[in-house]
Amino acid sequence: MSEFLSSRLKSLQPYLPGEQPREREYLKLNTNENPYYLSRMAADNLEKKDFENLRLYSDPDCTALRNEIAMYYGIDAENVLPTNGSDEALAFCFAAFCGQGAVFPDVTYGFYKVIANLLGIEFREIPLCEDFTVKIQSYFNAGKTIFLANPNAQTGIGLPLEDIENIVAENPRTAVIVDEAYIDFGGESAARLIRKYRNLVVVQTFSKSRSLAGARVGFAMANQDLISDLKRVKDSFNPYNVNSVSAKLALSALRDDAYFKKCTAKIIATRDRLVRGLQSLGFCVLPSAANFVLAEHATTDGETLYRNLKSRGILVRHFSDERIRNFIRITVGTDAQTEILLKTLKELTAI
Ligand code: PMP
Repeated sequence: MSEFLSSRLKSLQPYLPGEQPREREYLKLNTNENPYYLSRMAADNLEKKDFENLRLYSDPDCTALRNEIAMYYGIDAENVLPTNGSDEALAFCFAAFCGQGAVFPDVTYGFYKVIANLLGIEFREIPLCEDFTVKIQSYFNAGKTIFLANPNAQTGIGLPLEDIENIVAENPRTAVIVDEAYIDFGGESAARLIRKYRNLVVVQTFSKSRSLAGARVGFAMANQDLISDLKRVKDSFNPYNVNSVSAKLALSALRDDAYFKKCTAKIIATRDRLVRGLQSLGFCVLPSAANFVLAEHATTDGETLYRNLKSRGILVRHFSDERIRNFIRITVGTDAQTEILLKTLKELTAI
């Protein structure tokens, strides 16, 4: 830490991303990336001209991608703001809408707490129930901007759209941000509710279900006024926030709906296989609607499992947070990867 760092930031705990090791090849099941490649059609759509155009700034309105997302969800372009990963959309929401502070669950995506601290936003964490579900009534009349990941991060548990709508309807004077990073793996998007509610922002990403984590593209959907607030933040922070090559890749990936559906269906089927396999090895697995599962073994603790798997070339995620420290979070890979994981876990958990 240098002497130049603002004193306000000296105690900031930055977000700790999952490992992206370069020193050896791991079976990587730790950061919820897609095991399948980007749509061939989308990759082939890139032309020499797109690379030449990198000489120029990208379109600050990201018009083509914005239109494509709007068409996909049956909304208007004014209801969409493309961003540099969905982390940026979430950060813009914190910057734009949290004058009264924020609330989110005690077990959720760790970035919420970090960005709130960076921006000096007060927040309150609302404990999940004993079984890690969200008690929706604890978000009624929250009085602070609500951030809910659906399906929730770390647990994978999804909320029915009806519950999301109830929370939005019960907070007419507060913005509700629904982070749908994992929605394509089994949930129902709240996108269509943005016409009905002026306080709802839905955030999605191309990182997970569309195999573009490295391209960094996400987006927010909301009514026109909320989007123009977010655009105000974007233009005050990073006007050319999405690079032109990533924008084109995202646009083409969105057009290849058949491939998207095939990949997500495969991941969902593998998830079922993974859950059954884990249960037969003595794991308790939270019901997941995402492309990962959170699992706790009857006798071996989470950190030991994480370490032993790593020493055998398999990366999963372990969190030291009190409520989930005994669990490991496993990204759903291919069937072949799942078989290797289960075989290794069988050896590691045999008494
Ligand atoms: N929301 C949740 C719940 C996540 O788990 C992640 C990925 N870590 C993100 C948002 C951000 O993803 P990205 O910035 O790649 O879109």
